[in-house]
Amino acid sequence: MKGVKLFKVIGIQISLNYTWFIVFGLIAWSLASGYFPSHYPDLNPSAHWIMGFLGAFFLFLSVLVHELTHSYIAKREGIEVKEIILFIFGGVSQLTKELEDSKKELKVAIGGPLSSLVLALIFWILFKATLRSPHLILFTGLLWYLAFINLSLAVFNLIPGFPLDGGRVLRALYWRKTGSLKKATRIASETGKWIGIGIILLGLFGILTGNLIGGFWFVIIGIFLRSAAEGGFQQVVMKGALEGVKVRELMSRDVISVPPSLHIHQLVEDFYLTHKHITYPVIEGERMIGLITLKQVKEVLRDQWMVKTVREVMMPIREEIILDPDSEAVDALQKMIRTGEGRLPVVKDGKAVGMITRKDILNLLEIKTDLME
Ligand SMILES: [Zn+2]
Repeated sequence: MKGVKLFKVIGIQISLNYTWFIVFGLIAWSLASGYFPSHYPDLNPSAHWIMGFLGAFFLFLSVLVHELTHSYIAKREGIEVKEIILFIFGGVSQLTKELEDSKKELKVAIGGPLSSLVLALIFWILFKATLRSPHLILFTGLLWYLAFINLSLAVFNLIPGFPLDGGRVLRALYWRKTGSLKKATRIASETGKWIGIGIILLGLFGILTGNLIGGFWFVIIGIFLRSAAEGGFQQVVMKGALEGVKVRELMSRDVISVPPSLHIHQLVEDFYLTHKHITYPVIEGERMIGLITLKQVKEVLRDQWMVKTVREVMMPIREEIILDPDSEAVDALQKMIRTGEGRLPVVKDGKAVGMITRKDILNLLEIKTDLME
């Protein structure tokens, strides 16, 4: 999930998921045309719109504070946080590694909902303070809404299904009890899936009994939670198995390379039909200058095979199609998924020192997840 980069706080890049632009508008609109007019009918529409926009803006800030609290605690526990991507219901703090014990996980997980509760309390106290001044009615309405929404954020995130905060708390407790991260993650994810299904059913019930909008929201949230729980488990297992594994440990060192001057018909005969690999680094002198895959060869018409050379059809070298021997296997897998190439060259100081395939990584993954407790 990518986002738009905004700014940095305590060294952490804050980004917005694209859905926020739609959601921001929807929230401001539904507040300005539904919620505030029905609660404060005496105010005029422009006041409702100001309240709507301020409401959406402070909701955004509230979610940011929630996520920053997670990240701040993680940082204090020695985990580097690269980026926070904000979604509507919360965010994803991109921790650079998994927390190594259940106590730290518990602290990081509980911090977010606690900060939302504190914000709810602050907004509620401010709301109480403005009640005595009728001319502040615009703020009274806004503050009440913000107290309510922060309380909702805390309650929603405390739902005990992984990957929500409550699910992380549950996982940390199981982790402490069983001593196995994999088992604890499985239990917390299963719980998350079932809670997701429960929320979907509640939503459908709501729709059938006439609560169309509320029911619809429940269905969306349920679907979101269910798929997140499923993906979260796989991701944890994969990250755990590949943690610390470097590309150099998995790559094969016998690199079969081709010169750029080779004609395509020679490439097919002497390489494709002889070695049966589908990807070859193109080497000129000592340096790697490009990559040729079966896909490019297939794009050359048959009658051009005698004329065209490797140099003319290869992919010139660029950062996305090469790997460093010291990079992580997880990064290699991500690069393969992004580029759609199942086989990438490993390059050091301009020289191709190895090749790594998706199969190399997946085989290790399979072995390690089978052995993992
Ligand atoms: Zn959270």
